[in-house]
Amino acid sequence: MENKWVVSKFGGSSVKDASAMLRCSQIIENNPLIKIVVISATQNTTNQLEFIARAAEVGDEETLNNVTQELVNKHLTIAKELFTSPAVLNELEALCGELKAIASLILKDRSFTPKIMDELYSLGERISSLLISDLLRLRIPNKKIIFLEARKIIKTNSDFQKAEPQVDLILKNSKSEIYPYLNENIIFVTQGFIGEDLLGNTTTLGREGSDYSAALFGEAMNANLVEIWTDVPGVASADPRIIENVKFINELSYDEATALATLGAKILFPTTLKPTKRKNIPVFVGSSLNPNLKGTLITSELNSGFSLKAVSQLVGPEGILVSFIGSHLDEKENLINILQKDLGDNLFEFTDLTAVSISFRVISPKIDKIESLKIAHNVLEKFFT
Ligand code: ADP
Ligand code: ASP
Ligand code: MG
Repeated sequence: MENKWVVSKFGGSSVKDASAMLRCSQIIENNPLIKIVVISATQNTTNQLEFIARAAEVGDEETLNNVTQELVNKHLTIAKELFTSPAVLNELEALCGELKAIASLILKDRSFTPKIMDELYSLGERISSLLISDLLRLRIPNKKIIFLEARKIIKTNSDFQKAEPQVDLILKNSKSEIYPYLNENIIFVTQGFIGEDLLGNTTTLGREGSDYSAALFGEAMNANLVEIWTDVPGVASADPRIIENVKFINELSYDEATALATLGAKILFPTTLKPTKRKNIPVFVGSSLNPNLKGTLITSELNSGFSLKAVSQLVGPEGILVSFIGSHLDEKENLINILQKDLGDNLFEFTDLTAVSISFRVISPKIDKIESLKIAHNVLEKFFT
């Protein structure tokens, strides 16, 4: 098969309302190589679904009804603003009915299992992808828009809420469901985050897992690019919600990006780079608000020499861990001592060094999460040229 397709994933913030969805459709329209569009639930919808389950579990019918109505109204408003077709409006109504039925079941039982939660979670992505598919039909009439059930392709084990994809089956299903259409004038619209186990139960890959779905689709169809469209123009030198003067990074290696995500940066789901690394598919991270900005390209290329690029942070039972990400870190003479001195002996202690990361634990009770990241980013800035 010719290897020239793009998989394009749009996160919750990129599909949060009608105008955000229109921006996505513009990006898709502008790139004829995009063959698979992977859609997340609209912003905050997955949190609302958790809220609904918990309210039902404790019998709080008022919260349950309010949040459900909010969620339904949010999507009805989008549908109205996008002139959604009557047929799709009917499907939307059916999905909202499904959501209410699951909530009623939890309310009746006063409990829910991870399996039921996955069924409930799936409604977020199924609703948003349905709306986007209808929008694309309206906006790109010269192409056939195929609504693809991700659960037909993304087979997983039965570890609900953190299901493990079964790569061989995903490839097999892609060959029968996707490959035959790739040379046609089509765009598949599908869901991130969700999959199905071998018994036909809905599963999910873990919160924020839509990035991983996009990479799995990319791997299965031999794409030559996976795009992750979000609300910031790429991977930054630190979390831009906490640090004001971040620098956006043009290029990262798979290992650097994986280290960054694993060590706390929310921008990518930690396993996203596994399938793409297996097939050597570049991953682009960019902003759907400003699609012309450069963004970040993640590839197998590693800088030839030492460099420090970003800091991230993990907060857990063992305290606050800050990490520096870069290349050839284990080859740089004295790096541990240099960073330790800059961070302060009385504030941080060194814990771990690899080729792409070096981590320090906060030991002073006087500095919190925000302060420690600021200190680390100030230290990082000294290494920028
Ligand atoms: P999406 O809804 O598109 O999946 P997410 O909220 O999951 O978006 O991820 C994007 C957010 O990640 C950004 O808005 C940003 O605040 C946050 N973020 C955290 N660390 C970083 C980083 N190092 N670089 C860029 N963004 C980061
Ligand atoms: N909608 C899911 C979540 O919020 C998956 C994702 O957006 O990546 O966790
Ligand atoms: Mg995300």
